[in-house]
Amino acid sequence: MELNEALAVLEATQRKLYAYNAASSALFLDGDTVAPRDTAEGRGVALGILAGERRRIMTSPELKETLAVLEEHKDELDLPHARQAEELGRSVRQLTRIPAEEYMAYAQLTSEAGSVWKRAKEQSDFQLFRPYLEKLVDYNRKFAGYYDPAKAPYDALLNEYERGVDMAYLDNFFSALREKLVPLIRAVGEKPQPDVGFLHRRYPVERQREFSDYLMQVLDLDRAHCGIGETEHPFTMNFNSRDVRITTHYYENDLASSMYSVIHEGGHARYELDVDPAWDYTVLAGGVSMGVHESQSRFYENIIGRSRPFIEAIYPKVQAFFPEQLGDVTAEQFWRAVNKAEPSLIRTEADELTYSLHVMVRYEIEKALIGGTLAVKDVPETWNRLYKEYLGVDVPDDAHGCLQDSHWSGGSFGYFPSYALGSAYGAQMLANMEKDMDVWGPVARGDLSHVTAWLAEKVHKYGGLLTPAQVVQNACGVFDPVYYTDYLTKKYTELYGL
Ligand code: ZN
Repeated sequence: MELNEALAVLEATQRKLYAYNAASSALFLDGDTVAPRDTAEGRGVALGILAGERRRIMTSPELKETLAVLEEHKDELDLPHARQAEELGRSVRQLTRIPAEEYMAYAQLTSEAGSVWKRAKEQSDFQLFRPYLEKLVDYNRKFAGYYDPAKAPYDALLNEYERGVDMAYLDNFFSALREKLVPLIRAVGEKPQPDVGFLHRRYPVERQREFSDYLMQVLDLDRAHCGIGETEHPFTMNFNSRDVRITTHYYENDLASSMYSVIHEGGHARYELDVDPAWDYTVLAGGVSMGVHESQSRFYENIIGRSRPFIEAIYPKVQAFFPEQLGDVTAEQFWRAVNKAEPSLIRTEADELTYSLHVMVRYEIEKALIGGTLAVKDVPETWNRLYKEYLGVDVPDDAHGCLQDSHWSGGSFGYFPSYALGSAYGAQMLANMEKDMDVWGPVARGDLSHVTAWLAEKVHKYGGLLTPAQVVQNACGVFDPVYYTDYLTKKYTELYGL
């Protein structure tokens, strides 16, 4: 095979994979949003066939030969083609390195584990889930050896989620957080809490939908290219750089829930829409990693969305949407309420200040489980002890403790740290942004275009052209968690008058 021919196969293969992914995504989105209740079966059949076809393409001898030819001519390729070949090769290896029988058995296990976990959580019964978790841990320790036998097992798993991140990096990161945040959270805990009652007045869902439209305008999300739907758990899905969907969930008695979901998912969408369209229909399309993606969503949600200048800018409009509910509430009160910080039990409901400590508990436990120094039977006790130590809260039962997240039941070990890393990356990006320009003047007028332009230039446009580490380097410089702890210290010192 000649190089030219290999490049043609590379392009055609990526377009085909795009088509299969787009079809699967459309089915998934339909199932989660508007499909009638009892229609999952047929979609399941279609999704299974699409997945099989994708696997067939990825493991075809033609693609294997193509990738070998491209590897041979590595030095002659331009950066986009070199990166496409590298990423595609990586996915192919990922698909083929686990022996087929083990892969099938594992797929069966995660499917069963998912429903057992749900039941165990409902009944708050860890013993029910325990044998499954034991098997899941064993499998993942074994898979880690397939991924990269030279690495410690947990390092190999971490690398699957956020390339280049390992335990040395995270130990340093989390110990910096623990040292600064544990005392900060204690200090906040001794201060009186702001009134949040007005956030829980009755906010009609229809009005909240209109409010979401307004928030999307503020984020400059072009509605001709970005749709919004409603699902149990909010998410963002990208088809390509001109077709992105976000979802939210409305609660009649909770204004902040959907408001900040829309801004969070809007941040993910902003990233996807700003990726250079040149990478559409290739493996370089879309955000580069989960950690970098979270850095963007949390930037809009917390750093901008929960800032005083932003709230002061949009508050007259917020009041105009909800005059009966917020007529007697000032912008200052609103700002304090949406920034209320309090140690709690549930990660997904945690505030900006305490969030990363929830992640740290999971990190410590995963590290010990995969490292073989913690037995599955001791997970609940360890979980409860760490929650007491880091957050100062007593865990009443496993449903509010180690059974709360679905990740482990799906076989995801090493996924959680990305959530905390993303927040820290964002804080360092802010510090660099502030060196480059006046960030807060325009934000105080409700104008985010300069913020978006900076992020588009430093992060978004690359898609997968750069590796996650290169994107972080590009926007943050040398990563240092001190920017994050300084940011939180400054913010909560002002909020709580420490
Ligand atoms: Zn997110």
